[in-house]
Amino acid sequence: MEFNLTDLLSNDGMNKKISTDVSIKQFNFGGITYRIDDVIHIDLELTNLGHRKFNLEGLVKGTLKIPCDRCMEEVDYKIETNFSKDINFDDVNEEKVQYIDGYNLDLEKLALNELIIDLPMKVLCSDTCKGICNQCGANLNKVTCSCDNSDIDPRLAVFKDLFKEF
Ligand SMILES: [Zn+2]
Ligand SMILES: [Zn+2]
Repeated sequence: MEFNLTDLLSNDGMNKKISTDVSIKQFNFGGITYRIDDVIHIDLELTNLGHRKFNLEGLVKGTLKIPCDRCMEEVDYKIETNFSKDINFDDVNEEKVQYIDGYNLDLEKLALNELIIDLPMKVLCSDTCKGICNQCGANLNKVTCSCDNSDIDPRLAVFKDLFKEF
């Protein structure tokens, strides 16, 4: 979905409001796939600041499905991010503003840009998530496997293997 900026840029002081939903099915960032079943909502307010500059203010909100950091099961993660930025239209090409193409503001790309800035470092399905068996790959929240995982911190597992050598 695109919003044409021609009108806004040619009228000093002009103010435009947009409230809409965009559909982004999924995106990849940092090796993780983020899925989105529902729509992403965007509220935007654009204000012409004169001399082909404008302010872009608003919020993006929705629910992302993010794999749990330990067991990989998807977790619903609500995200809501506010932003406000001044954009000098004449610098758009030089600064590689991804969501402006020619005179069009691409709302999906803008939403994605803001979501990525606000992604959590990691998400857990629960604080007590048992993760995945590092030998058979079973989800230990759902099954108890018969592997010998002892009660050793996975970070120390490498030492356990070392001791076996002796
Ligand atoms: Zn988990
Ligand atoms: Zn196992």
